[in-house]
Amino acid sequence: MSDLSTTENLFLPRKNGDLFIIAGPCSAETETQVIETAKLISECSKVKVFRAGIWKPRTSPGNFEGIGEPAFDWLRKVKKETKLLTTTEAATPEHIEICLKNRDAIDIIWIGARTTANPFSVQALADALKGVNIPVLVKNPLNPDIKLWAGAIERFQKAGINNIGAIHRGFYPFENINLRNLPKWELAIEIKSLFPDIPLINDPSHIAGKREYISNIAQKALNLNFDGLMIETHINPDVALSDAKQQLTPTALNTLLQNLKFRKSTSDNTEFTDILEQYRDQIDSIDFQLIELLNKRMKITENIGKYKLQNNVGIFQLKRWLDITKTRQEFGDSLGMDVQFIKRILQLVHRESIRIQSKIMNQNKKN
Ligand code: PEP
Ligand code: MN
Repeated sequence: MSDLSTTENLFLPRKNGDLFIIAGPCSAETETQVIETAKLISECSKVKVFRAGIWKPRTSPGNFEGIGEPAFDWLRKVKKETKLLTTTEAATPEHIEICLKNRDAIDIIWIGARTTANPFSVQALADALKGVNIPVLVKNPLNPDIKLWAGAIERFQKAGINNIGAIHRGFYPFENINLRNLPKWELAIEIKSLFPDIPLINDPSHIAGKREYISNIAQKALNLNFDGLMIETHINPDVALSDAKQQLTPTALNTLLQNLKFRKSTSDNTEFTDILEQYRDQIDSIDFQLIELLNKRMKITENIGKYKLQNNVGIFQLKRWLDITKTRQEFGDSLGMDVQFIKRILQLVHRESIRIQSKIMNQNKKN
């Protein structure tokens, strides 16, 4: 098992299902709330870090915006009375300065989603942390822009922070869905591909928005081999001053963690790896066939574009498109496939066809 007792080797890649678990309230509200929550959380051996927001970014003014500096005394007490490490959000260079002044009370700084979305803010924080040895966790930005997330990580790397983690907390949904934020798991996988050595932590609380959805999201993260979880936990969630609906009691947190199926990131069993390799060979071959077929389809699209041009016919024909989506979805359905998946693939293919045909029409315009 990796040693997580110091921040020096905090972010070792996980081994043997040893996940990096962070839990604690959305906000530090009172000394009693912080200490009581931390004590109960620390009884669960899986949790390594206590989180509590000291400065809270709120969408509208007039809400509880955090306790500020006095809360560091409470975190100091948490460290003294439990074995937990501590983390809080910093959003301005002044916050960093106060965190560093209280370095004995704080082990890790996290960067919130609203901050990651703003390169000026991120750079100001990276500048404030230059030459400082403290781990930093970077949440994804509110908008699903992988470059902003990666750029923020790079800014901290360039400032010399070598202990960095990424937190996946989902993306603003723009339309009403049952979750508070869209997970867009593919972006979390992409950040892991860009930074294979930095741990990827899932925050199911901010994706869920409601406590009943948290365990499913956390399990999905483990199935995808995330390195850890950050879960909002409050001694009395119903009266929490922020994010009341999504916080768990320490008991509910414990139950959730007990019920999660911890997946291994790989297996040493040679029979397993041999069989997996055979399946992967099949997938590889199918992927190449798919690309060949798509290429054939696009060549025909090109001919259609030229033919339409000769006959002065427009690119998009609604009736044909509706017919394509209907027949293909019906066929997919008869095979037991998800029709929405079929629709999304067709939309992508259709968009590419339109791009190719538009290019042909535009070329002709220039000649
Ligand atoms: C939080 O962790 O309480 C928080 C404000 O998160 P986010 O930046 O992901 O909204
Ligand atoms: Mn919160």
